[in-house]
Amino acid sequence: MAQKKKSPSPLIHLSEKQIEQLREIDERLHRVAQERRATLRAPRPGVHAEQTFGSITFRYETVRCGKANCTRCPHGPYWYAYWKENGRTRSRYVGRVLPEKARQIYEEKQRAKLERQTRQT
Ligand SMILES: [Zn+2]
Repeated sequence: MAQKKKSPSPLIHLSEKQIEQLREIDERLHRVAQERRATLRAPRPGVHAEQTFGSITFRYETVRCGKANCTRCPHGPYWYAYWKENGRTRSRYVGRVLPEKARQIYEEKQRAKLERQTRQT
């Protein structure tokens, strides 16, 4: 069996601030979905949110698997990252929620913020 090649996460190209912004969008989308099953203004059909950081565009979108007898299409929405490499558009599945790395950076920032606030009082 062939070894599964693990491609690097597109998140490694982002700064911590950008990951934090993305994380905030992710949380807002989940809140909105829970509250009223509504979506944000869609830039195009199937795309629930879109955010560009430098050369990478993140889209939160629903996808069709293409199976003729699938009764659960469209699937998702999921996060996908898009970027250009040698003039070609590349994409990578990120996940239903942003991965652990983004979460960790975000939580560390929140902790640091809390600590600063505690020191001030
Ligand atoms: Zn399907």
